[in-house]
Amino acid sequence: MTQEKLQELLEQLTLDEKISMIHGGSLFGTNAVERLGIPELMTSDGPMGVRMQYERTKWNPIGDNRDYTSYLPSNTALAATWNRELAYETGQILGKETRGRGKDMILAPGINILRSPLCGRNFEYMGEDPYLAGELAAPLVRGIEENDVSSCVKHFAVNNQEYHRLSVNVELSERALQEIYLPAFKKAVKQGGAKAIMGAYNKLRGQHCCHNEYLLKKVLREDWGFEGVTVSDWGGVHDTLEAVNNGLDLEMSVTDNFDEYYMANPLKELVKSGEVDEALVDEKVLRILNLMNNLHMLDGERKRGMYNDWADRGKMLETARQSVVLLENNGILPLERKKGLKVLVVGDNAGRMQAPGGGSAEIKALYEVCPLLGITMAAGGDVRVSFAQGYALESSGNIWDSDRKESWQATSLNQELIDLNDMVEYMSDELKAKNAVLAEEAVAAAAEADVVIFVGGLNHDHDTEGKDRKSMTLPYEQEQLISRLIEANENTVLVMMAGSPVDLRAFKDKAAALVYYWYSGMEGGRALGEVLFGDVNPSGRLPETLPLCDEDVPAMVYGEFPGENDVVHYHDGIYVGYRYYETKKVSVAYPFGYGLSYTKFAKHNLTAECDADGRLRIDLDVQNTGDMDGYETVQIYVQAEESAVERPVRELRGFAKVYVKAGESEHVTMELGAESFTYFDEEKDCFVAEAGQYRIYAAADASDTAVSVEVSLPETICLPR
Ligand code: BGC
Repeated sequence: MTQEKLQELLEQLTLDEKISMIHGGSLFGTNAVERLGIPELMTSDGPMGVRMQYERTKWNPIGDNRDYTSYLPSNTALAATWNRELAYETGQILGKETRGRGKDMILAPGINILRSPLCGRNFEYMGEDPYLAGELAAPLVRGIEENDVSSCVKHFAVNNQEYHRLSVNVELSERALQEIYLPAFKKAVKQGGAKAIMGAYNKLRGQHCCHNEYLLKKVLREDWGFEGVTVSDWGGVHDTLEAVNNGLDLEMSVTDNFDEYYMANPLKELVKSGEVDEALVDEKVLRILNLMNNLHMLDGERKRGMYNDWADRGKMLETARQSVVLLENNGILPLERKKGLKVLVVGDNAGRMQAPGGGSAEIKALYEVCPLLGITMAAGGDVRVSFAQGYALESSGNIWDSDRKESWQATSLNQELIDLNDMVEYMSDELKAKNAVLAEEAVAAAAEADVVIFVGGLNHDHDTEGKDRKSMTLPYEQEQLISRLIEANENTVLVMMAGSPVDLRAFKDKAAALVYYWYSGMEGGRALGEVLFGDVNPSGRLPETLPLCDEDVPAMVYGEFPGENDVVHYHDGIYVGYRYYETKKVSVAYPFGYGLSYTKFAKHNLTAECDADGRLRIDLDVQNTGDMDGYETVQIYVQAEESAVERPVRELRGFAKVYVKAGESEHVTMELGAESFTYFDEEKDCFVAEAGQYRIYAAADASDTAVSVEVSLPETICLPR
């Protein structure tokens, strides 16, 4: 449809019809205007697949079992692959399933920065580094949107905690906002072409993000030229005038009083009384019509989509494989499939289905290969795999079934409820007693086994929307259990399943091997089994630092997480994650970017050239010096030798994941831009790449400084914000 036609359509709409199009008319959709052939715009969560079907206006699962879908690796797992192609493939699957399920917009991806390991929703995001998150978000968004559906990148912005998420006000420097918290969104918009963006629940500098004038009008539309649709988080709007004036296009919420939403009757009254210019409503409607038009919802051929495509399972498996991070290995891995080998798998997470948990990211998975199944499948018939639960949970809290009457989301706007829940970690005496017995059984069985594989960590009672964790300590007294298992059997391999860092100090140096494993989708367990038995060479790299303990985390050191009296000052500024640990030389359990392989790599012939426009060309050879084929991830960190301002010692500015056959070498070329040298200058209000000397590191992780060259940038360059 041409712009003129869209304009004509707009002109035919009555005020009532227009208003009906800019707020929820059901829990996940807008209202249709049937007489003009305008359909409703149907959205769905979320980042790990298309969510189960709820009744239109009530949080009751419809429960008729046609809504089983693919359960994709979480965004954290995807980030751990450091693989742009897999991000694109993941987007393709998500987009295809969204369309196949008859939806128009998927409420994904989540790309908020991991500021504290304790944020309940870290698993939905892409780690601590804005470059990595942006590089993966852009192809992911492209993949989604090539299917004639829209993404909805969330949560814009500084949504870094769940505690008091509806009311907390974030105060931070402009430099931290521009350097740390906005770049991934900018890339999703400018390179990914995102058609929609979701405002965050929290406030920024005193104003709710869903109608934050600075974020929506200045940053998003003026600075970045965003022409898509802005959507509120569900229940994130608090003021009609702010919403209508400050750039929000679509108000959604969790309650069924649709006509009473801020951008429903209250807005209509303001237009009628002349306090709000109808032209403002028209702008919003036109953006929504444009979106529908771009998705071929108004005329023309639209892709049909499909869900549960058999062919996609291999792609999800590949993502899961490449997300597994090997942190320690004394040589026990890969396991040999010796005839009669006795493998004991321990841990509640080994057999737990994770898909139904986490909050709005829950998935009614067609199936999920849990770790125990995946390990047993990979072991084959000669190996004897047994299982001991080791510890049990208070409540799973996340099991979906047709008996479940109402979703937690129905009451999610109730701050008191969230207050009661947040930061509570509790074990009843009864559970403690039960776990003592389970632990005893597991330890006894461990002594009899050849190899013990412990699969623990967190689960979606902890990695979840709506609450943060209290500390990085493992729940369910796992530390004690792990120590006893290691004592009983030195061949104990630990698999930590989590979307966030956990405290590993008690056992990281004692285990025979340590693996970090995320919520990795329906084929996750298979991927884990293949890695443990060596069918797959692990290639995941940490998208987040694993600090030693929460007291070391910059957000804690500088005293503000989760804030006080509904204000959180980001005194940590730009020193988030490795930017802090590396600069201030704070020891960590494992640095950002870290991960081992079953082979070894060497880097040779590193060269870097830089021209007057700041174009940086990097060349090197990556050699596989071991005897197994595998992927190496070359990470480019840039360090300013001198600067007018304080800067992190090194920052990630490029990466390439390369497959190198055993004994062979691959040549890698990377071409980066002047942004690789920049910091944000608050006075000049632009990104500045200062003329001068820079050291370019081709590293294996954020702490690796072994291979580097120097380049000089001849002239100072300013890049727009
Ligand atoms: C979450 C969003 C989600 C929305 C719709 C909110 O609670 O913050 O991420 O997309 O609900 O379910």
